[in-house]
Amino acid sequence: MHDLLNHFRHKENENGTEKATDTQCPYCSVQCTMQLVEQRIAGRKSYKVLSKDNPTSEGRLCIKGLNAHQHALHQDRIKYPMLKKNGEFVRISWQKAMEYLQEKFSDIQRQNGVDAIGVYGGGSLTNEAAYLLGKFARIALKTKYIDYNGRFCMSAAASAANAAFGIDRGFTNKLSEIPFARCIILAGTNIAECQPTLMPYLTRAKDNGSFIIVIDPRETPTTEIADLHLKVKPGMDAALVNGFLKIIFDEGYVNEEFIKGIRGLGRIYRCDQFT
Ligand code: SF4
Repeated sequence: MHDLLNHFRHKENENGTEKATDTQCPYCSVQCTMQLVEQRIAGRKSYKVLSKDNPTSEGRLCIKGLNAHQHALHQDRIKYPMLKKNGEFVRISWQKAMEYLQEKFSDIQRQNGVDAIGVYGGGSLTNEAAYLLGKFARIALKTKYIDYNGRFCMSAAASAANAAFGIDRGFTNKLSEIPFARCIILAGTNIAECQPTLMPYLTRAKDNGSFIIVIDPRETPTTEIADLHLKVKPGMDAALVNGFLKIIFDEGYVNEEFIKGIRGLGRIYRCDQFT
């Protein structure tokens, strides 16, 4: 019996196929690269994820990246359009779905103008999907309303970075410089859970003696590495920073030379040059 099973396993492996696809995780700004390997043995498919070297994550992947493919491949994924009829979803053809959408969108725009429809993209869209969504909004629908969820989490940061450093988000330094910082302030960010593959830069900084300050009302895995955790009340970040500024000016800690040079720094580094 044992030999027979081994024989079948051997045959299965002999006939198995493997297909590898280079891809990347879309779930956070680190954009870790990886390889998805599809193995097919005796009609059964299985998947494994291998990390690829990447200057930002240095080849690391977090749990989100390791499981990102399940969105596309999970057995519960809806693979065809479903229309609700009498309270129940029923399967319809793609042709019918397109006709239905066209009819409904046209009705709304005829009655209320082209801008009556807005388009909202998600953070996990690939570049290509985001491009197509933009085309769909501007050229097919002709609406001026298109946005994405980054507006809520990043637009304030982008405006502030533009005003302070002349860049739209990103870093003014390289990630590889982080371990050499003498003091690091993490304000309103939970890197350990949101960009886990960047944590080693901070732990290296800590090993090098960096003093880490985390500003967050909550206790998180990131606050665990803090030397000082400032638990501000939600909405009080500006008051805290104004307090910093007052002390810096009152106590004469302003580094005039640095302030003069900071505009130059903003021009040297673009946001895609942060590795
Ligand atoms: S850190 Fe995690 S969530 Fe972010 S891109 Fe890498 S694997 Fe994805």
